[in-house]
Amino acid sequence: MSSGRFCPRCGDAVPERAEPLPGAERGGRTAALCDACYLDDFDLVDAPGRIEVPVCATCGAVRRGSSWRDVGARDYTDVAVDATREALGVHVDARAVEWGVDPEQVDENTVRMRCRFTGVVRETPVEEETTVDVKISRGTCDRCGRIAGGYHNALVQVRAAGRTPTGEEQSRAVELAHAYVAEREATGDRNAFVTEVDEHADGVDVKISTAQMGQGVATRITRELGGTTEHHPTLVTEDEDGDEVYRVTYAVRLPAFTPGDVIDPGDDDGPVLVRGVGDRVTGVRLASGERWTSSREAGLDPDARKAGERSDGVETALVAVEDDHAVQVLDPETYETVSVSRPDYLDADAETVPVLRSRAGLYVLPEE
Ligand SMILES: [Zn+2]
Ligand SMILES: [Zn+2]
Repeated sequence: MSSGRFCPRCGDAVPERAEPLPGAERGGRTAALCDACYLDDFDLVDAPGRIEVPVCATCGAVRRGSSWRDVGARDYTDVAVDATREALGVHVDARAVEWGVDPEQVDENTVRMRCRFTGVVRETPVEEETTVDVKISRGTCDRCGRIAGGYHNALVQVRAAGRTPTGEEQSRAVELAHAYVAEREATGDRNAFVTEVDEHADGVDVKISTAQMGQGVATRITRELGGTTEHHPTLVTEDEDGDEVYRVTYAVRLPAFTPGDVIDPGDDDGPVLVRGVGDRVTGVRLASGERWTSSREAGLDPDARKAGERSDGVETALVAVEDDHAVQVLDPETYETVSVSRPDYLDADAETVPVLRSRAGLYVLPEE
């Protein structure tokens, strides 16, 4: 029963097989060995004894090769399992390979991975165990390094026409900037970050990684808070290739008035409670309840004087309704009954109404 084939290592006859031997089709030299010699040499898994995984101490990003990846809130055991999986090489001749891993935290920065593999080669079940120590080394990722270095290509300056933006407007603008950048970051964009928020006497500055995101943030702020944006580039430096690097300043100018302001447009019809600041200032006359809109030419800059705020209003007793144009209320300062204009939003059955004192007298405010 000579097949004419003998193992080149031990000289035993090698029986004929219906299927080609593992590696034979690739011309592998071990393909000619008998099963015993083949399995003697066989390594199911090729694994390094130790892997180092750099992790950013600031944001937790993990470096793989030359790039950093955000891994979210997962703990480093998952990171260690992934790194081990990527570092392992399973022999191409093995079939039905399965593996399990038992991670053990050895010290704060080392996870020991006991890995157990099973597979089938030359119809023989094989198994192998190997241990990989994954060392977590803490460093600084490219993004955190840039943030620490003050890197930014956009500066969004939030100011207002003829006034300082309110604390509420400033904190909302900063919130909008963080939210916009967080959305971009969530898509995996590691170049999306807010570098710094600086408060100034006349407003707030937000430094943002890219000019495009600065533009996006400025648009969100004016869409919600009103106003306009002008942008102008400034040459800041040349990069290592000698290309000019520009930083773009987005100067956001919030409108002179905000919803809730009471303004006096200077005509004879009395103060206006501002309700909207889109393209023009809109509001309601406190004397009549009629709608008021700034002229198209004036837009967001009507020639008006601020006379107070909705929040300055105080509740007082509605004493009597005189006629279609007047009611009597208790003056909250003098406690005398005074006659004031009756706006059409006034509820004649109400027991109390909010009133606001302005230079021109007492006015009934709409309910909030
Ligand atoms: Zn042999
Ligand atoms: Zn980082």
